[in-house]
Formats: sequence, structure tokens, C-alpha cells
Amino acid sequence: MANKSSKVDLKTLSFSESVSHYFDKASKFTGAPQGLLDQIKTCNSIYKMNFPVKWGNEVKVVEAYRVQHSHHRMPTKGGIRYSTFVDQDEVMALAALMTYKCAIVDVPFGGAKGGINISPRQTPPEVLEAVTRRYTAELVKKNFIGPGIDVPAPDYGTGEREMAWILDTYMTLRPGDVDGYGCVTGKPVSQGGVHGRTEATGRGVVYALNEICSHAEDMKALGLTTGLEGKKVVIQGLGNVGYNTATIIREYGAIIIGICENDAAIHNEKGLDPVAVLKYRQETKGIAGYPGAKTIKKSAEGLELQCDILIPAALEKQITDLNANKIKARIIAEAANGPITPAAEEILLAKGIMIVPDIYVNAGGVTVSYFEWLKNLSHVRFGRMEKRFDEQNQRNLIKLVEEMTGKTVTSDKVKKIIHGADEIDLVNSGLEDTMIKSYNDIRQFKKANKGVKDLRTATFAVAINKIRDSYYAMGIFP
Ligand code: GLU
Repeated sequence: MANKSSKVDLKTLSFSESVSHYFDKASKFTGAPQGLLDQIKTCNSIYKMNFPVKWGNEVKVVEAYRVQHSHHRMPTKGGIRYSTFVDQDEVMALAALMTYKCAIVDVPFGGAKGGINISPRQTPPEVLEAVTRRYTAELVKKNFIGPGIDVPAPDYGTGEREMAWILDTYMTLRPGDVDGYGCVTGKPVSQGGVHGRTEATGRGVVYALNEICSHAEDMKALGLTTGLEGKKVVIQGLGNVGYNTATIIREYGAIIIGICENDAAIHNEKGLDPVAVLKYRQETKGIAGYPGAKTIKKSAEGLELQCDILIPAALEKQITDLNANKIKARIIAEAANGPITPAAEEILLAKGIMIVPDIYVNAGGVTVSYFEWLKNLSHVRFGRMEKRFDEQNQRNLIKLVEEMTGKTVTSDKVKKIIHGADEIDLVNSGLEDTMIKSYNDIRQFKKANKGVKDLRTATFAVAINKIRDSYYAMGIFP
């Protein structure tokens, strides 16, 4: 069901054209002049590279990209993806999403993305290492990486290990750069990483959903009760984002009734334990046949299960005009980037489904990357200076209360009250605050602009307005 009022055929849009489509749809609700909108929308720099890598007795040519979508704030920021689907259009789309994502959560970066067309599962680790190091060297050569230039991070198919290789290569080529640790985020904690970064995207998804589900008026409109407790959830993808979302949302009382993976989907109304499912997947190389659940052979059919919240946490274009009609969830939270196509979105919105867009709901990863970058530039662990001081203050306060009341506070309570913040406490608290504040900015904008019918349009408009303001502040567009 294409949008009749628009001339574009939504079904034929590429990924980057889809992002532009969302941008155009939202831009009429912003106060930005056309010239500025054009500048915000366009991709600033695209670096495509081909380089050789030794693979056993052969040499293979690797195709890789780094796209910096917007330089309105520096450095630019965004992950690096390893997948055989990587092409220029995909990386451009993902880089643009990063610009709006950073703006929506007030992270002072422009958007960027990298991609290497390689299968992380079918490539031996030593080849992956050689490719990662060569890619980093190419970025250094062209001044496309650095703590004040462009800061990569993990994405689909990459993690701490790859980030450590990038850091090591960068430091080798740029010795003496005192802020060099800030050239990449998502590093292991032992290599300048920050506690909580690995699970940050998933944790952010849960904080976002917890806030969304706390608004009684919105939940009533969807026919749902408030709170995450008892909500039936289906998750697609047990990678870093899907797995952490699944384990953390269960702590809030939600029930994972379905999990979709590469090989199949599994279903159990009583609930699935993602820890056990992941262990089973590691042992059997799939989730089909997981004991205590019904196996759905066609993985994509798992998305069609009756549930309250559907969380696609894998790749783009998972819900299209071909399956959108069969989706029965009331809320879809885009933990992945671009899992719903514009044509599918029209169908889902017409069905009254709430779509929580990627540029907001999965922004927890870049938010905590920002904290990691700050840690690297300040060269000190969060909480190091104040933890003991705060604890002593609280201890003094308890002592005073005891003296004034003549009563003794139990040692259990004392322990809880005096606890000074560790790095993880501060990171999670900063993340939760960010997700709550950003959602309320979006929600308020939607309420204040009656023409805005969906959360994605509201989110894009809020992001565009924030970028517009930073251009104005630079005096570029008077
Ligand atoms: N790849 C993640 C994303 O798409 C994280 C980016 C970052 O931390 O820079 O948001």
C-alpha cells in the first residue's frame, strides 16, 4: 500500500533512499530553510577502498568503505560492519542514520559508518585481523580516523576484538598521540574501554521501552497496560544487541515468547531463557529443535507471532510490504538499523502499530561510546575521584541521624546507602537519563505538531532541528 499522495514508489527505494524519504517526510515539520535541509541530508565524504589480503595460499581483494555523512559536529562517529551485504548504498544509509541518532540523544558527533564486505563467520581470525589492521592503516593514510576526526565502533559482525586491533594499529602509526585511545570506542575495558559499553545498545532499548510503556494514555491507545511486566516479546537476532535486550528486558518482568535466528524461529508462550537458547545455538550452530519450544522452520514467520512488543535486532529490510500485513505486535522497537522498509511502515501504521525508530531506540550504543570517548580524553575512570569521598559523606550523615534519633541504622542499610558510584553505575544512569529525556523530547514534539502522525517523523524532525541549530550557531546559515 504505497503512499498515494507521494510520487515515489516506496517499494523500489534503496536503503539510503529510504533514509532520505524519512528525512523529506519530516523536514516540512522543521523550521529549516531548503538550502540547509539539502546540506544536512547529503553525504559529506565517501571513501571506498580495495586492498589485497593474503588468505592461505591465495590473495583476495577486499572491498571496504568509510562514509562520513555529516561534519556539523566533529569527530564523526559510527560503527564498522563486517558482512557480505556491505555496499556503498548501505554504508551511506547507515552513516546518515548515525547523524540523526547522535543528534537525537545529544551526543556531539557527526554521523559516519564503515563497512567491509567480508563474512565474519567464514573468515579465519588471522585473516580478519590482517583485514582490520590494513583497513585502519588505509583510514590513517587518508586522515579518516582519530579522536578528533572520526571514531569507529562495533556494529554487525564486529566487537571488542576488532576494536582492540584498530586501536593497536592506530597507536603504532600515530605514536605519542596522548588522546589516541579515543580513536575508537567499544574497546575491551583493559584497552581503555568503558564498563557497560558491550550491553549498552540492548540496555538502551529496554530503558526506552520502559519509558514508552510508562505513559498510560499511549498504552491505552494501543490496548496495552502500562509497564514492561508481563509484556510478551518476540526478538529477532541473538547477536550482541538482541541477546542483551532479551536478558535485560526479562529483569523488568517481560516474557520472551519468541526468538528468530538465521536458521529458524522458536516459540513458547511460557517464556524462553535467552541464556540457555544462546548456549544451545553455540553447541548446535542453530536454534532449531531447542527443547521446550516449538520450532518454526521459516525464521521470518517468527516475526508474525502474536505479541505485545516485536524487537527486530538483526539486519535491515526484515519487515517489508510482503510480510507487514501479517505482523501482530502492538509495538515494534527497531533495535537494528532500518529493519522496516518505508512501504512496510505505511502498512504497519495503518494497522495502528507503534513503531519506535532505530535512530532513537538503538542509540544507547553511541551514547555509551560517547562516555567511553570522554573517559579516554580525560584519562581517568568514571567515579575514581569521588567514590570514596561520597561514601564518607553518607557515612557521616548516617552517624548524625543516629546521634539525633538515638536509633541505629542496620549494617545492611548502611551498606546500601553509602555505596558510592562505580563506573558502571554512572554509565547506566547516564544512559537511562538520556533515553528517557530523548523520548520525552520526541513525544512532546509529536503532541505539539498535530500533522505528525508517527514517532519516526517526530524523531527525524527533532533531530533535524537540533542539527539546524548547530549550523545556525556556527553562523553558516544566517
Ligand atoms: N554501531 C552502533 C550504531 O549503529 C554504535 C555506533 C557507535 O558507538 O559509534 O549505533
